Amino acid sequence: MRGIAILGSTGSIGRQAIDVLSLHPDRFFVTALTAHRNAALLFDQVRLLRPRLAALTGMDHAPIPADLSFCEFRFGPRALEEVAAQAEGSDVLAAVVGVAGLKSVMAARKADKRVLLANKETLVAGGEMVMNACPPGTLLPVDSEHSAIFQCLQGAGPNRYEKILLTASGGPFRTWEKDQIAAATVTQALGHPTWNMGAKITVDSASMFNKALEIIEAKWLFDAYPEQIQVVVHPQSIVHSAVQFKDGAVIAQLGSPDMKVPILYAMSYPERLETGARELDLFQLRQLTFEKPDTEKFPAIGMAYDALRAGGAAACVLNAANETACYAFLREEIPFGRIAGVVAGALQKYGSLPARDLADIDRADALAREEAGRLIHKN
Ligand code: NDP
Ligand code: MG
Repeated sequence: MRGIAILGSTGSIGRQAIDVLSLHPDRFFVTALTAHRNAALLFDQVRLLRPRLAALTGMDHAPIPADLSFCEFRFGPRALEEVAAQAEGSDVLAAVVGVAGLKSVMAARKADKRVLLANKETLVAGGEMVMNACPPGTLLPVDSEHSAIFQCLQGAGPNRYEKILLTASGGPFRTWEKDQIAAATVTQALGHPTWNMGAKITVDSASMFNKALEIIEAKWLFDAYPEQIQVVVHPQSIVHSAVQFKDGAVIAQLGSPDMKVPILYAMSYPERLETGARELDLFQLRQLTFEKPDTEKFPAIGMAYDALRAGGAAACVLNAANETACYAFLREEIPFGRIAGVVAGALQKYGSLPARDLADIDRADALAREEAGRLIHKN
């Protein structure tokens, strides 16, 4: 039996993780759950899964229902780190959104937990520091593309890959003109064609900042040079990514778009268990198509490579400015077309800060948010 703490259990990944692990009660038990403010859903989940520890990280206090007295509740942002470190069991599923998850991932590693990572912003901002805390086998990808790459590499033996082919759906604006994209509404940006996810990552998919974050995530997870990562737009989301070897062989991972597969693979690795995902019917797939990303319409992709080449805290600044701009767009404070400009402005000002330790990362994150906020409110 594996004990798993789920950080961000009320989100899209957290809820799907609960669904899929509930199919295997003989394999997994839940040791802890956290939500930010959704107390009602957290209480339901605690009632169902009976963890000993739970937290509401965005609240100072909440009345706890009498029937949940078997569970200890903690409150406030620090509770995320406490739960990550103190929950029983071997595994922590990091499924909160944003760089708010960084300290909890570090705390989980300090307590020698295996981290199942959905929370990509943590790796984008903390890159080198996070990897230094994660010897092989202690950080497993949940993001579908990175899980796919990880699965492809299981068959590589001693061979190093030449190239990572990182697939992207292209999001809802793939075929739109640049000026249409610039004026896209919140409802339009939230309408993702193939995946059903939380609001932040859905907007990131529309701006392709999600792919920018994933390029950086791939660099750290698979020790890749920027030139080894090729983004491939694949609107059907069936090929979840691929790796190419020097003999010309390409190994890809395919499947119906269903996050339950990579979530459970991280939990059960190296074993494969049933997920309930729809079987892939090759005869029903009319076609699989592939195209180059349009880096003019989606400047985020180029910014990711620039940030990787710059090193230091550039990726942290990119992430922080994007988080700030993304939520400003969701609050309708800026048009969609301004997101990339805000990120570029923050990178220009703070892209060469260092990222030697958590203090540096915190500082770069704060300065980037401040600059992004200034740019957002400039007009
Ligand atoms: P959601 O917005 O659906 O869920 C976020 C979860 O984190 C919720 O439990 C939320 O609690 C909690 N949370 C929100 N803000 C904070 C905070 N400041 N501190 C602590 N907890 C917080 O996000 P997703 O599930 O879509 O995404 C989670 C992560 O997984 C992201 O990093 C995303 O990029 C990544 N990911 C998601 C995929 C998906 O299919 N959804 C696919 C691949 C990666 P509450 O409900 O109370 O607000
Ligand atoms: Mg992904």
